[in-house]
Amino acid sequence: MKSPAINQAMNILRLLREISEGADTLPVKLDKIITMIVREMKADAGTCYLVVDDNYLELFASCGFNPGIAHKISLRVGEGLVGDVAEHNRSLAVADVWKHPKFSYKPDMGEDAYKSFIGVPLSRWRRAIGVLTLQKKEIYEYTRLEMEILETVAMVLSELVASEEMSEYKNSLIRARGQSEKEKYKGLSLSKGYGLGNAVVHRRRQVVTKIFAEDKEKELKKLEAAHTRMNADLDEKFDAAKLGIGEHVDILDAYRMFAKDKGWYKKIADNVQSGLTAEAAVERAYEDMWNRLSGTTDSYLKERLHDLRDVADRLLGYLSGDNAALSPVNSDNLIIVAQTMGPADLMDYDYTKIRGLIIEDGTPTMHVAIVAKALNIPVVAKIKGIFSEIKTGEMLAVDGNEGYVYIRPGIPVQEKIKAKIAEKEKLQARLAELKDLPGKTKDGVKINMYINVGLAFDLDYIESTNCDGVGLYRTEIPFMASDVMPDVEKQVGYYKELMDRADGRKVIFRSLDVGSDKLLPYWGNVGEDNPAIGWRSIRITLDRRAILRKQMRAFLRAAAGRELNVMFPMISNLSEFEDAKETLMIELEKEKRRHGEVPSKVNVGLMIEVPSVVFQLDAILKQADFISIGTNDLAQFIFACDRGNPRLSERYDVLSAPFLKMMGEIVSKADEAGVYCSVCGEMASNPIEALALIGLGYRNLSMSGSSFGRVKSMVRSVNTIDIEDYIKTLLKSNKRTLRPQLISYAYDHGIEIY
Ligand code: PEP
Ligand code: MG
Repeated sequence: MKSPAINQAMNILRLLREISEGADTLPVKLDKIITMIVREMKADAGTCYLVVDDNYLELFASCGFNPGIAHKISLRVGEGLVGDVAEHNRSLAVADVWKHPKFSYKPDMGEDAYKSFIGVPLSRWRRAIGVLTLQKKEIYEYTRLEMEILETVAMVLSELVASEEMSEYKNSLIRARGQSEKEKYKGLSLSKGYGLGNAVVHRRRQVVTKIFAEDKEKELKKLEAAHTRMNADLDEKFDAAKLGIGEHVDILDAYRMFAKDKGWYKKIADNVQSGLTAEAAVERAYEDMWNRLSGTTDSYLKERLHDLRDVADRLLGYLSGDNAALSPVNSDNLIIVAQTMGPADLMDYDYTKIRGLIIEDGTPTMHVAIVAKALNIPVVAKIKGIFSEIKTGEMLAVDGNEGYVYIRPGIPVQEKIKAKIAEKEKLQARLAELKDLPGKTKDGVKINMYINVGLAFDLDYIESTNCDGVGLYRTEIPFMASDVMPDVEKQVGYYKELMDRADGRKVIFRSLDVGSDKLLPYWGNVGEDNPAIGWRSIRITLDRRAILRKQMRAFLRAAAGRELNVMFPMISNLSEFEDAKETLMIELEKEKRRHGEVPSKVNVGLMIEVPSVVFQLDAILKQADFISIGTNDLAQFIFACDRGNPRLSERYDVLSAPFLKMMGEIVSKADEAGVYCSVCGEMASNPIEALALIGLGYRNLSMSGSSFGRVKSMVRSVNTIDIEDYIKTLLKSNKRTLRPQLISYAYDHGIEIY
């Protein structure tokens, strides 16, 4: 910016701060701010719209338009010029609005006299939270310089708009409109468990109010000191935390390397050299990177942007000196609430006190969710607007099993969550007691009970449950937690570790099952409309054969001298299975020619997840050594019901006649053909559903390690003949769900279904 422009910007920022720090109420402050900006920018009119309810912009303050219109004008995000600025989070200048195709005329505004327009977004976390506009009566081309000044002003104004004071004000408006406060929110569970505690709203972002530096040398020294201290603290924090081993530790190490990146530091230092304060230089470095990468569809680069934002915020904290006071809540039970969060941020809190994590923008592959899961912290994500709804200190309850968050829960909800927590503790104690008892029913039928493994952390369950083996190893999980595609050697390491820990028990390896909601950070996301039925799983690995071949090689080498079981996911027809199996067999031949030690036996199977293979079972059972049913995917395709959609999660039930009949037919056919058949989807992890499976004839169940104790106590209290009879009568019912009947049956027959 040229110096008169700098003076103009500085003057507006000074006035803005004076008004913000004054004693007026928030609506008065906003009016004064808009009037001041209109005057200082020599415009004729101006507005401030704020995003409410995610999709709407509401007019909060104006100058030069009809009086009394605040809160009476609203626009959809995307509607009109203002909506366009919000939708794209991008400034827009128009010389004559009347000629612009997107202009949307609002008769109540009193805007007939105005022609030129400039709008800039008020944004936070790269999302527009409002729009600041100016208008002139004449046709006028706003200059780049004027836009920059207004953007600088918007940056500071955004902080006021995102303040606690503003969210109080918005809430009071909602209350005044007679809308009842919502208490229970449905989100997506990213990690199971229950938690009760006080909210800690995780706000890292600092307000950058001082943009230009008076003394470059001083700023550089300040930057260097903050950067050094931040890295030393990170080293100390991570080393001190007893995190065991696993992907979560790799993630935190990668973050630590990122914070030390020399290129990033140099960019900030260069910005300071060009006249910015250290704080503004950090923001500028971030914005440059964001401008370059924000359009990418590459999820790896997107994930790096998250990391960069987190590290930038951390450094800003050190620069402003308020990095220490993160948890203002004096409680032994904390529930962290974040809009988004880096994995290292979790370590800022005493993680032994964290009872839950709520992330507004969370996704299943998010690193912080993987870390939280490994630390046994329940996580609920994807609840729009929850971040601005919750205030630090408020009581919260988290139900990570069903994906619910309760704000200010009443006594009954608190009691329910406490009971669930106690139940979990009791079950853990019970698990220890059951550990050495056989997985046999009351009438002496052996049920083989396996666990599903993904994270390194899950390996501990092999010993703690004393299970019969690993019925599903989701090999994609270590791929997802890695920053680069693991090579054969690295994969051999993962697989061998699992076989060693299994110590002779059965282990079933599943080939890479990526795509849909399981994205690899280093692979571009192809952006399909329906990824769950798109290019995923075996469809990817058959097309990218080298990946499949390498994985098969790694399986064969890891299992040298031992029995190897490999299964392929998402098979839709016999020829896909034959094709995948042939790839494995070719690799086996190559290994033999290489004179490497090969497995003592190789069994090849497939997952039953796509309905089409259910109708090709006879042929498949002639070729497969075993089958395993992925009820999570199978149910979503049978019911045409997205498994990740919280709105649908209670609509269709696997405990209904159509689904159970199909499950019954699969196991009967497999038994007739003498082919091992198991269930490794979530159905096997839930005692009441596992009870139905036993009634249908299933004798091999593979479940999550954390459910093992509950399922085992059910198994030990059931009589197979009785439940088989009962299921036969149930299958005649046309009810939407047979769950209530099965639950009553369990109670009546003393079957333990915790
Ligand atoms: C399933 O679909 O049931 C299954 C076990 O696979 P995943 O949950 O990993 O898709
Ligand atoms: Mg599946």
